[in-house]
Amino acid sequence: MSANRFDLIVIGGGLIGLTVATAAASRGMRVCILEAETCGRHASSASAGGVRSLNRHPAEIPLARAALPLWRGLADTLGAECGFKASAQVRVAEDNEAMHALERRAETTNALGYDHEQMIGPDALRDRIPSIADHCQGALVVEDDGFADPLACLRAYRRHAATLGVTLHEGTPVQSIESHSADGLIVETTTGSFFAPYCVNAAGAWGAGLAAALGEPVPLDRVALQMIVTAPVAPFVTPVVGTEGRKLSLKQTAAGAVVIGGGFRGTVISGADGKDRGRPGARTIAENLANAVRLFPHLAGARLVRSWAGIEGIVADGLPVIGPSGRLPGLVHAFGFSAHGFALSPLIGPLVADLLEGRSGNLSLSAFAVDRFDPLGNTSACGQDETLQGAVHHA
Ligand SMILES: Cc1cc2nc3c(=O)[nH]c(=O)nc-3n(C[C@H](O)[C@H](O)[C@H](O)COP(=O)(O)OP(=O)(O)OC[C@H]3O[C@@H](n4cnc5c(N)ncnc54)[C@H](O)[C@@H]3O)c2cc1C
Repeated sequence: MSANRFDLIVIGGGLIGLTVATAAASRGMRVCILEAETCGRHASSASAGGVRSLNRHPAEIPLARAALPLWRGLADTLGAECGFKASAQVRVAEDNEAMHALERRAETTNALGYDHEQMIGPDALRDRIPSIADHCQGALVVEDDGFADPLACLRAYRRHAATLGVTLHEGTPVQSIESHSADGLIVETTTGSFFAPYCVNAAGAWGAGLAAALGEPVPLDRVALQMIVTAPVAPFVTPVVGTEGRKLSLKQTAAGAVVIGGGFRGTVISGADGKDRGRPGARTIAENLANAVRLFPHLAGARLVRSWAGIEGIVADGLPVIGPSGRLPGLVHAFGFSAHGFALSPLIGPLVADLLEGRSGNLSLSAFAVDRFDPLGNTSACGQDETLQGAVHHA
């Protein structure tokens, strides 16, 4: 068998590609990851590490909730620590309008049959976070969310992939994916051709480019999301805190540093080498810090020690693309995680591996279909269902 023939080729070695590769390899597939730069170079290493089911789009709630038990067992699954800490996530209302919006949200999710989000009033908020600013009126809370360490996760998944025999080619950008024969795909890279009956497009913010080349357009913004970190301060908050109607996500590490994000954007710089980089913006850093200080006035004196930006793909409806290509039998898309991919990552590998095996599982993926932006359904040339069953035969 040729060195470049596999059962599955995964395009992209971010967390999503790594979870897909390890899940498929653990089910006996011969897997190869083709990564344009280095594993985890983009969104996955820049992530804030939030594991949040709070305030998710209704279509994403089942996935976010299903990922939580996997997070709790992840160190055992991978045989290495990923820094997962169970923690409440709290979405604070700063005024009446925000309080009403959160109450409506709680009613909506309750009506959908979920009970993980609960409203708390001002007293309960202060009991939980004594240092919160006086004007804050209450919050929407999920008790059993958490956060983890993105770099530890990347290291653990990468080692696990190696243990399972996954072949990794870094510095290997994929240029095209095509049908090769009745039951095979050919993936062309700058360093040669790779063959497999199955391929997963896990190219993150660049996944839409690969899909568009196949006639599957997805409106996706390639953005530089930024984070800032302060020098250690005295312990003042244990849950992860966000706000309704304002961009903020804030947590304090065990060492006392305050890690602040929430969706502020820096700039995407396209280098002469053809590689994209994210750069934080001075103005947005100041706005990000200002939002933190509104909730925690004592942070006005905190010293910023670090900022960074990572490139993420934000799809127009804020939901990822997960599911089979309608154009190319054997290809599954899993990209555009729209700033939620870290939390979902332990689930996406097994979920995509199920699709490759022709099993659809209990979670509906219809909201994530690649053809949801095509009003005429023109992208479904190969009879798309939620699995690959019928589209290809298992290798
Ligand atoms: C600052 C920041 C904070 C975030 N915070 C959170 C958070 O708190 N919680 C949360 O759930 N999510 C968060 N996210 C989002 C989360 O990190 C991402 O959704 C997730 O990491 C996406 O993983 P990925 O593997 O799809 O993408 P990536 O990690 O970007 O990986 C895609 C890979 O594909 C490679 N690639 C691209 N094109 C090609 C090609 N043609 N050939 C081969 N390889 C290719 C790239 O080099 C890249 O390594 C955050 C993101 C950022 C940037």
